[in-house]
Amino acid sequence: MARFDYLEPHSVDEALGMLEKHGTAARLVAGSTDFLVRWRTGFWRPEVVVCMQHVPGLDRIDFNDDDGLSIGAMVTVQDIEQSDTVRARYPALAAGATAFAGVQVRNLATVVGNICNASPAGDTLPALLAHDAQCRIVSSSGERWLPLTEVFVGPGQTALAAGEIMTELRLPTPAPNSGGLYIKHSPRGAMDISAVGVASVVSIGPDGAFSSVRIALGAVAPTPMRAPGAEGRLVGQPPTDQNIAEAARLAAQAARPIADVRSGAEYRREIAQVLTERTLRHAAATAVGGATDFEDIRRLAVQTAW
Ligand SMILES: Cc1cc2nc3c(=O)[nH]c(=O)nc-3n(C[C@H](O)[C@H](O)[C@H](O)COP(=O)(O)OP(=O)(O)OC[C@H]3O[C@@H](n4cnc5c(N)ncnc54)[C@H](O)[C@@H]3O)c2cc1C
Repeated sequence: MARFDYLEPHSVDEALGMLEKHGTAARLVAGSTDFLVRWRTGFWRPEVVVCMQHVPGLDRIDFNDDDGLSIGAMVTVQDIEQSDTVRARYPALAAGATAFAGVQVRNLATVVGNICNASPAGDTLPALLAHDAQCRIVSSSGERWLPLTEVFVGPGQTALAAGEIMTELRLPTPAPNSGGLYIKHSPRGAMDISAVGVASVVSIGPDGAFSSVRIALGAVAPTPMRAPGAEGRLVGQPPTDQNIAEAARLAAQAARPIADVRSGAEYRREIAQVLTERTLRHAAATAVGGATDFEDIRRLAVQTAW
């Protein structure tokens, strides 16, 4: 295995300086769960690894009604799964976290690392899209905020430039009467990569109709994707079985799945339709009926093929 120098910055500025100094020879790491796999296979061969584990302040989850939820770059998937705030207010994200790998990986893997790895099948990504996440990205020349919808540019590729670090995510406070769910479908449950994953987050207005709808699909296109046609079909409409079924059909139609070892393309499309329908029904029911108990979220979040 290739050797590398291991650097431990103690601030974001120090990390930025290290990345600038070593350029393409350096690789930033957070939990290193993706990094170690790619390094051991020789796919990544950095001369320098810059590890953010010792940068203080990046492991915080904060919430207030004005700013919504803030997730630092070192917050792990397990932190998210265990957060009472996330469970109560961002149920699709809680479902994405509980559907993610086994506890050992969840304890190391960061949510921001899941974004920056940009797998089309990343389990937190549909939920983050459906909860409308914004990303804070810093570099030696300043900071910028990018909607998560603009971060993914291809499989394994993001809009981050060389030397940039994603330091924080912000998820807006959900409107009153909101609900959501993520469901992962995979041959071997949470221990396997998703064959399809779908998140829906909805709000119901005083007239009983959908006032907002966000649907996001994973593993059915080169990047995780929103389904705007399906969302538009529901806004202003009552949450009837027929409306939800039609929106699910539109979402599946928008998918661009491939066939691989986990699924055929048409099977993926069919499952995307089923999961969109299930997540929308659950989201609409809990938007008016109150938050879902976390044990129910855990039970619903992973569906196996057999
Ligand atoms: C056994 C196993 C099972 C897995 N199961 C799942 C699963 O069920 N679902 C799933 O979605 N994923 C799964 N993964 C993939 C992996 O755990 C996730 O993608 C994880 O979220 C990556 O986070 P990390 O902190 O470990 O990233 P790292 O490995 O540290 O980094 C990943 C990439 O992101 C970049 N990066 C990390 N942080 C930043 C930052 N702040 N700014 C800029 N770039 C950054 C790194 O440079 C690197 O390119 C699994 C991995 C393993 C090894």
